[in-house]
Amino acid sequence: MLPFKSIALIPAAGMGKRMGASINKQYLQLDGMPIVARTISVFEKSPMIDAIYLVIPADEIPYCRQHVIEAGKFQKVVAIIPGGKERQNSVLNGLNAMREYASDNDVVLIHDGVRPLVTEDMLIESITTASLHDGALVAVPVKDTIKTVKDGIVSDTPTRESLWHAQTPQSFRFGKIHAAHLSAEADGFSGTDDASVVERNGGKVHIVMGDYRNIKITTPEDLIMAEAFLSAMERERNQ
Ligand code: C5P
Repeated sequence: MLPFKSIALIPAAGMGKRMGASINKQYLQLDGMPIVARTISVFEKSPMIDAIYLVIPADEIPYCRQHVIEAGKFQKVVAIIPGGKERQNSVLNGLNAMREYASDNDVVLIHDGVRPLVTEDMLIESITTASLHDGALVAVPVKDTIKTVKDGIVSDTPTRESLWHAQTPQSFRFGKIHAAHLSAEADGFSGTDDASVVERNGGKVHIVMGDYRNIKITTPEDLIMAEAFLSAMERERNQ
């Protein structure tokens, strides 16, 4: 047994408008289960995970409790917390709620609710890496050449070897990530992921190799891809 707890924090309080569906995209079915339920199930099934904190828009909490938590019989979801305006606010709400339960040494895995194809291997590798360093970031090398563009004109072509595509989970010791998010809020810093709030304080975040299939489901095309990836992953498991 590890000398610290590993706690999942799942921000799922976005409005999901890009999907164009009448319900929040995260409740759309992916192979017979709401997307967010499939995400939670990976953490629920892993013996490495002690508890799950879920962040949901305040007005969706009753729906989510009934159609996701109770329907999925999830035992590890210990709190459902109302989200904030931006993802960063939602994460901070979750971390504040976790104060009662988490010690500074515990590892928190922050994972987007709409990334259901995360694997248990990524969780294990993230926990190990986060326990040894300032943070663990699941990421994949970019495949395309990326350009920096200003006013429609290319201003730079960064070398591809140095570019990685950030995914989640992004994992840290609780004390470190909570302090980093509190100081980001105090300074009015807004980052697009959790690693960036640790990096700005000089933290060294280490890469954990992700998977190109660990996509964020944001648009209807993503859902089609996720269905295809999921059946391929199930075929692989049964081989
Ligand atoms: O908006 P984006 O696609 O970056 O969302 C990534 C994750 O953050 C999603 O799971 C979404 O529900 C969550 N989120 C949140 N609170 C917000 C905005 C996004 O928890 N205010």
